[in-house]
Amino acid sequence: MKYALVTGGSRGLGRAICIRLAKMGVPVVINYVSREDAALDTKKSVEEAGGTAELLRFNVAVEAEVEAALAAWQQAHPEDYIAYLVNNAGIRRDNLMFMMPTDDWHAVIDASLNGAYYVTKRLLPKMMMRRHGGRIVNMSSLSGLKGMQGQANYAAAKAALVGMTKSLALECAARGVSVNAVAPGFIETDMTAELPVDDLKKLIPMNRFGRPEEVAELVAFLLSDAAAYITGEVISINGGLYT
Ligand code: NAP
Repeated sequence: MKYALVTGGSRGLGRAICIRLAKMGVPVVINYVSREDAALDTKKSVEEAGGTAELLRFNVAVEAEVEAALAAWQQAHPEDYIAYLVNNAGIRRDNLMFMMPTDDWHAVIDASLNGAYYVTKRLLPKMMMRRHGGRIVNMSSLSGLKGMQGQANYAAAKAALVGMTKSLALECAARGVSVNAVAPGFIETDMTAELPVDDLKKLIPMNRFGRPEEVAELVAFLLSDAAAYITGEVISINGGLYT
């Protein structure tokens, strides 16, 4: 059986992606790091949408945790493998660079970039061996494409994900595994909850923040058979804010 793993599946974009995957009939592994309550809510929503889901707690930023959790999952599922990976977990710790604590630089790079490396590296061999339509979607950001004041750490991580996506796409193409990135603008989630929405909306041609379900729809397309010939792409979803 082919499973999907959504890192940071407990809340926000990850949660919407898990629910959307249920509608595709793909069993979902919901990763989270601290909010078990939110992850359980997501699981319930997936089941209400007619799908199946299980929780898998690990901190994507800690390679040993990633390894232990994914090894345990594989042991419990000897006949199955993770064919669809959404590297969605991420955090932001905004600050102007000259005031940015070094810990905040590293925390953001660790969670938003290194995490995707640890998880992808662990799952790739099986995905490539099966030659069976493996799919990877990395959650980049508008910030990684154009930069944003106060987000040097976050933008660096998200821009690096684009480089990783494009390189890995070339490495995996002949094995039928596609690797793409999605670059959302401002989307309504906990991550953007404290932003001055009314001011920011004025900058967005569509005059509103995006909804998690809109991003989930794009991710679902990239995970589907219909997108088999798309790889190494970065697709923006930002209401016209930047292309
Ligand atoms: P969110 O609402 O803050 O949710 C973040 C998710 O990531 C949660 O499920 C959280 O788990 C998980 N997470 C954070 N650190 C983790 C770690 N070290 N290990 C495992 N899981 C971890 O954020 P969001 O807005 O949905 O963002 C999701 C992704 O989209 C992020 O990569 C973000 O950078 C990107 N993005 C968001 C926007 C936006 O406007 N919202 C725009 C562009 C890109 P817990 O629940 O356990 O804390």
